[in-house]
Amino acid sequence: MATATAAAAAAAVSSPAAPRAAATARRGFVTFGGGASRSSPALRPGRGLSGVRTHVAAVEQAVAKDATKLDAPVVIVTGASRGIGKAIALALGKAGCKVLVNYARSSKEAEDVAKEIEAAGGEAITFGGDVSKEADVDSMMKAALDKWGTIDVLVNNAGITRDTLLMRMKKSQWQDVIDLNLTAVFLCTQAVTKVMMKKKKGIIINIASVVGVTGNVGQANYSAAKAGVIGFTKTVAREYASRNIIVNAVAPGYIASDMTAELGEDLMKKLVTTIPLGRLGEPEEVAGLVEFLALNPAANYITGQVLTIDGGMVM
Ligand code: NAP
Repeated sequence: MATATAAAAAAAVSSPAAPRAAATARRGFVTFGGGASRSSPALRPGRGLSGVRTHVAAVEQAVAKDATKLDAPVVIVTGASRGIGKAIALALGKAGCKVLVNYARSSKEAEDVAKEIEAAGGEAITFGGDVSKEADVDSMMKAALDKWGTIDVLVNNAGITRDTLLMRMKKSQWQDVIDLNLTAVFLCTQAVTKVMMKKKKGIIINIASVVGVTGNVGQANYSAAKAGVIGFTKTVAREYASRNIIVNAVAPGYIASDMTAELGEDLMKKLVTTIPLGRLGEPEEVAGLVEFLALNPAANYITGQVLTIDGGMVM
């Protein structure tokens, strides 16, 4: 349903009349004599000039809205059905972006995210796929390109944990975590840079973790992957700076989500005592930082950085 609604919205904004109307509005031309205006109630005799002005203002507003939609950034958020990814997709969608909501298994949750974006006036499609698999990544990029013709922002968010001490860690626990938390970031970034290089513009935001900086008992696999993401971010930022592709990492501390809920209440209580601000972060707080990096022109001169958002854990 979300996809169908988004398709209808895209058809509306991509209709040949919309760009013409937008261009007309930009130039400040408003036609009083013909077309739809002629039958408008505001122009019927007896309405007076103020009625006409109100009508013109309403038309200008509608046209400006269509023009804004045409220019809206296209964003891919991996792992956007739950937790931090969901908050990021919602924040960017509600800010006016066209959002591809990726998920692995939670199709219902992903559809709900897309519906919430559409209810707020945005556009969204869902895409079920494992971003650690090259074929799925290629199909995901194609889905966004088929729908919107470009990709402006990639948020590499999908991640998993398989925590255990190194002495007990199975190769599969190591590999699963590396595959999604690091290899998927490589695959999605490489695929999207092909599009961004051509337009000489793009923004990539990788969700790392403070444990990629500090290490953490029981997370040799996860901290290695996240440290890899940080090194990868800096390298890609250097390689693509001349193409105006901006690449940063966001490194959250402990954020309230299904991932941290897995740790159990007792451990969480202990962990909270190590956080100077004395509480877990909220997914919306991480989403606010990502929104700043993705959309705020004040972030245009930030690249190759790791921004921690952790209640003061790492300082
Ligand atoms: P979460 O609540 O467990 O959500 C994980 C998301 O990733 C879900 O949308 C899930 O989709 C998706 N996903 C899982 N496997 C996937 C795959 N193979 N392909 C595509 N999507 C997949 O996790 P979270 O806490 O929001 O974490 C999000 C990111 O922040 C991760 O990179 C994590 O490492 C990082 N992070 C989290 C914290 C924290 O405290 N929560 C701290 C630092 C960093 P399904 O719903 O379909 O499974």
